Amino acid sequence: MSKPSRAEWEQRANALSIEGRAFIQGEYLAAASGETFDCLSPIDGRLLARVASCDAADADAAVRSARQAFESGVWSRKAPVARKRVMIRLAELIEANAQELALLETLDMGKPISFALSVDMAAAARAIRWSGEAIDKIYDEVAATPHDELGLVTREPVGVVAAIVPWNFPLLMACWKLGPALASGNSVVLKPSEKSPLTAIRLAQLALEAGIPAGVLNVLPGYGHTVGKALALHMDVDTLVFTGSTRIAKQLMIYAGESNMKRVWLEAGGKSPNIVFADAPDLNAAAEAAASAIAFNQGEVCTAGSRLLVENSIKARFVPLVVEALQRWKPGHPLDPATNVGALVDQQQLDTVLRYIESGRSEGAQLLAGGQRALQETGGVYVEPTVFDGVSNAMTIAREEIFGPVLSVIGFDTAEDAVKIANDTPYGLAAAVWTSDLSKAHLTAKALRAGSVWVNQYDGGDMTAPFGGFKQSGNGRDKSLHAFDKYTEIKATWIKL
Ligand code: NAD
Repeated sequence: MSKPSRAEWEQRANALSIEGRAFIQGEYLAAASGETFDCLSPIDGRLLARVASCDAADADAAVRSARQAFESGVWSRKAPVARKRVMIRLAELIEANAQELALLETLDMGKPISFALSVDMAAAARAIRWSGEAIDKIYDEVAATPHDELGLVTREPVGVVAAIVPWNFPLLMACWKLGPALASGNSVVLKPSEKSPLTAIRLAQLALEAGIPAGVLNVLPGYGHTVGKALALHMDVDTLVFTGSTRIAKQLMIYAGESNMKRVWLEAGGKSPNIVFADAPDLNAAAEAAASAIAFNQGEVCTAGSRLLVENSIKARFVPLVVEALQRWKPGHPLDPATNVGALVDQQQLDTVLRYIESGRSEGAQLLAGGQRALQETGGVYVEPTVFDGVSNAMTIAREEIFGPVLSVIGFDTAEDAVKIANDTPYGLAAAVWTSDLSKAHLTAKALRAGSVWVNQYDGGDMTAPFGGFKQSGNGRDKSLHAFDKYTEIKATWIKL
């Protein structure tokens, strides 16, 4: 596939016809109330679309459609091999439309177009394909019964799944849910973030084209506290899956308790430690990784390596390498294929990030790089990748998830100190360890309270590895065969022979 230039991307952006309606029962529909909200691009503030602002009435209609489709068996009772074929077709359609989807994603939430294509769209297609390919290879169990009995332990789809997803990897986070949810035979109501609804809306059409029957996938754009809340409180939603902030994740558990005790699976925030020991095999590689761990996707990554823990004996040598590596991460126009740092998602996020930078300064951390808004003349919302040294783990910038490119450097003396600081956080999503000592790597990895631990790299893994959090980073896992646990109930059928 040819690689378009910035001018070509801009031309295509101007020619796009963007769908902003909800998708219910296989059709694009306005919100029942007729309300819309303005979907603005953080690149330059332009109006992209007026998007349906769904509420409880739309949630009812979508859940009804999902329930009917589920009960009809049109998808839920299809042979796994048949669902597999449709899922693979959907993955192929995502690939065939990757440029359009990537463009929508970039315009909507500001990430660089090169990454939208090479990371988000490629991984979204992989998630759908991997789950589809897996579904006819998962076997149920037979219990160890006496001779005259038969015990079947089978997995069944849960029924209607509501999926509420964030704006940082909009289509990818949706596909981590949709892959196993649809492959297992469920019907889904997907609620994208109000800050990035466009690719989910487009995906609905592709799913129908691929052969996902009407009603099996519905998409409801709208504000979380309105339509998201309606779904979370809905008495006919069996399972709620979520990726987003810990604050909203906690609220969803309350909604589930207040309604029908629907199952709730949460992928929430992080404040991940990246631990560099003095015996790291390659300090330059560690510095490059530390820079990309905070600058990639503008730091709007749940696993951002936002706390860099460096052994004090190498700190004076290592930190300048990180600052130098970060110079290569520069805010630029997201439609320029050479750009590696795009716009933040919106003005509110920019204000939040700048407030944290100010708190770093006022609490006594030492600003080594960045710290300013960038490219203000474009009308877009950009911030420079920022490094603070001399951070204590008690400072606000070390405790709270910033969700922007702000790195806190914290020194330590011993492996015990490093683990103690690393685990001193309410979160437990990810962590990394850099060392040449095999035992130290394993012992540290074991001691870290995090769902993913990387050794001598940052952010490794693919669809075969489960992804999710300890502590207040969530429960359950996306990706891998473990993801199917969220979307299936286990039934024991005991038969007297
Ligand atoms: P958010 O919690 O503000 O919103 C997430 C989703 O919840 C959105 O669709 C939003 O509309 C909806 N929502 C908001 N209020 C709601 C309510 N009262 N009821 C129901 N739904 C509601 O998060 P965000 O700002 O979109 O995303 C950033 C967060 O996502 C960060 O905390 C990040 O760490 C987290 N995240 C986690 C993972 C992971 O896998 N653990 C991955 C990506 C992002």
